[in-house]
Amino acid sequence: MQAYQGPTYEMAVKQFDVAADYLELSQEARERVRVPKRAVIVSVPTRMDDGRVEMFSGYRVQHNLSLGPCKGGLRYSLAVNLGEVAALAMWMSWKCALVGLPYGGAKGGVCCDPSQMSLAEVERMTRRFTQEILPLIGPEVDIMAPDLGTNEQTMAWIMDTYSMHAGHAVPEIVTGKPVTIGGSLGRREATGRGVFACVQEALGLLNLSLADLRVVVQGFGKVGSVCAALFRTAGAKVLAVSDVRSGVHNAGGLDIEALQQHVNETGSVVGFAEAEPLTNEELLALECDVLIPAAIERQITEANVGRLRCRILAEAANGPTTPGADERLNGSDIYVIPDVLCNAGGVIVSYFEWVQDLQNYFWSEDEVNVRLNEIIGRAYSRVHEVHTREKISMRLAALSLGVRKVAEAKRLRGLFP
Ligand code: NAD
Repeated sequence: MQAYQGPTYEMAVKQFDVAADYLELSQEARERVRVPKRAVIVSVPTRMDDGRVEMFSGYRVQHNLSLGPCKGGLRYSLAVNLGEVAALAMWMSWKCALVGLPYGGAKGGVCCDPSQMSLAEVERMTRRFTQEILPLIGPEVDIMAPDLGTNEQTMAWIMDTYSMHAGHAVPEIVTGKPVTIGGSLGRREATGRGVFACVQEALGLLNLSLADLRVVVQGFGKVGSVCAALFRTAGAKVLAVSDVRSGVHNAGGLDIEALQQHVNETGSVVGFAEAEPLTNEELLALECDVLIPAAIERQITEANVGRLRCRILAEAANGPTTPGADERLNGSDIYVIPDVLCNAGGVIVSYFEWVQDLQNYFWSEDEVNVRLNEIIGRAYSRVHEVHTREKISMRLAALSLGVRKVAEAKRLRGLFP
């Protein structure tokens, strides 16, 4: 469909086509499964602190509603556009179906640079965006969560805006909100925990151990920082991490707690005293056991895939590897844990949060973590089983399980009217 364009969307479609070919989906089924159900573009007029009104463009794409409400993050970044959001919504659909959640995929975003805005400006923009998409969201329709550039506070503002309209608190309208207002224990760490659980599965299969494992993480945000901390606590060495500005490296292993303190104080990993500087490009080429891209899409491309020197590529970010790079990885020694499986911990615990809010009955952090590990462990086993039985890549195994379920749901429900 012409409305959706751009390199990330093309990448998601290409991945889908490979899975659809493998599943031998009919042309008609492909169209029904691939094309987003609906999308909205809204103008978000926002009063800036200096009195000016700035117009931001906001997007929400709901990819499929066949298995339940839509679920997906909200992103604040200058790279946000309709095609990128549509691609991320498609990946959410396959992810939710793969891990067995009663959701379809969605994604949203506002094209802005929150690092250049005051907190009050971000709040006004968030509330106005929520107001603009209000007719399209709801706890039974579409539930948002944090993603790149957004956080618990963003979700609290969305919940408050929605609740003001309803006339009562509606915590189940978003997930990833603060625990005080109905968030789930363990949600903040959930994506990183899921990545950690997947890597542990891979280590078992490859006969590697956590002790002295060398880990490299691109992106030190909500996901990357938790991954780094979990690996460090488990006895692994985190050799390098980076953010949008640049990276830091210590061959003996970074002190992640001290680094987090430095980031809290300065806003970046850059300048951390107990490390050497290195660029993002150099970071991706470091020799290590586990490379974790946890930043943005299309970081591992045909141009740099040949320089990767890791044993396991654990895709914490969505879409970090282009299809061209993926083809090269297929014939290599690098074991790929694909994004739709690797980063599913976030949406799994978002599901737990929604269930807890709907029931007004809250679980302990241990219960959350045990159930998260159960669900992601089960999904991992299914992907690994298809990968070995069918002799296909881990990515194709994961995508085909997700796409097959969505296609089956659409077939069973039939066409209305
Ligand atoms: P975040 O905004 O909290 O952190 C992003 C990090 O990546 C920051 O350190 C930022 O500086 C860095 N970064 C941005 N652009 C970069 C670039 N060009 N090169 C290197 N570093 C760069 O975002 P997050 O929530 O941690 O999300 C990271 C990735 O994980 C995204 O792809 C997101 O879609 C995916 N993801 C997030 C969740 C979640 O629960 N937050 C769940 C599943 C997947």
